[in-house]
Amino acid sequence: MIPYGRHHIDQQDIDQVIEVLKGDWLTCGPIVEAFESELARKVRAKHVVSCSNGTTALHLAMLALNIGVNDVVLVPAITFLASANAARYVGADVVFVDVDSKTGLMTPETLKAAIAANKDKNLKAVVNVHLAGQCENLEEIYKVSRQHGLLIIEDAAHALGTIYTDERGQDHSVGANSFSDITTFSFHPVKTIAMGEGGAITTQDSQIAARLKLLRSHGMVREVSQWQGDERGPWYYEMQELGYNYRISDINCALGISQLKKLESFIAKRSNMVARYDQALALSSSITPLTKLAASRTAWHLYIILMDFAKIECSRTELMKQLKDKGIGTQVHYIPLYHQPYYKKLYGEIILPGAEAYYASCLSLPLYAGLTQGQQDIIIKVLLNDF
Ligand SMILES: *Cc1c(COP(=O)(O)O)cnc(C)c1O
Repeated sequence: MIPYGRHHIDQQDIDQVIEVLKGDWLTCGPIVEAFESELARKVRAKHVVSCSNGTTALHLAMLALNIGVNDVVLVPAITFLASANAARYVGADVVFVDVDSKTGLMTPETLKAAIAANKDKNLKAVVNVHLAGQCENLEEIYKVSRQHGLLIIEDAAHALGTIYTDERGQDHSVGANSFSDITTFSFHPVKTIAMGEGGAITTQDSQIAARLKLLRSHGMVREVSQWQGDERGPWYYEMQELGYNYRISDINCALGISQLKKLESFIAKRSNMVARYDQALALSSSITPLTKLAASRTAWHLYIILMDFAKIECSRTELMKQLKDKGIGTQVHYIPLYHQPYYKKLYGEIILPGAEAYYASCLSLPLYAGLTQGQQDIIIKVLLNDF
């Protein structure tokens, strides 16, 4: 079975993890900091705070930006559950923003429309999701957001390694926070690099970074310089606000460091496969790949096609079943969030036309570093011959 996504682990990764298991630190040790430094270097971040996964990264981001009850967070309708749930964790409400039906991305225009339609609400922040690894016009989204006093969180779970080009032709690595307050990443095994579970947050603001570290570990400080109380002693620790245990272990980080070394080759392989899919599937009149946006480099996480199911006279359910019978796994990224029973119950019936059109046609084909050209040729052949 060819899955739609899969981690790629080699002997070097295994050796690095075993090395940590033989050492003194399984968690809270030097490998966690080494991973943070390495990630900072790769994505050109000023500060990196690692954490247990991409969901806790988003939760910590909401907390560190003081988003809470009575606040409203704008979230694109097409994304993974966690992008919106994080706002709910802190008691904020969610407004779903429509997306471009050809990219699945929130655009400056759909964001403007959502702001205008909800201007009576206490809009506080926007989550910008880089679906499949692509970035919309980040400068425009930044301008629109700031005009309305919104904080910006980039959910870059899909976009590790993407380099955005601004209107003056300047490059901005996703994670450098050129157009946001905070960026979050996930290192779940289906993402571009795998850590088992893993996440990280980047920011240019040293106070936000310090707060993220505090919240990641129970809101607790041990260093003399950070004490507020007058208790003193080698045992002393102090809890300054309510925090969590959202730390990541040295075991995960050893895998992360080893995987980061291969990031460039993973991205190159994925990029090469995307080009091969694009070229081959151009022969089909019923398949359209996502519209490609200009960028110095899009680090593709997903290969999503938009399928004209009416034209092929086959439903998505039937197509997925037939592909599965031939050993090809596919997936749908994503069901519009407002379709989820939880959000329906909370906000009632919502229909956003761009998100609906996108959702009606999207299908993710296999894309991962270990996918061979031979396997890809089989997938292409089945799609072109049978549909
Ligand atoms: C995977 C993902 C997350 C959550 O990451 P986890 O590490 O699985 O918690 C958040 N947002 C998006 C867009 C994702 O794809």
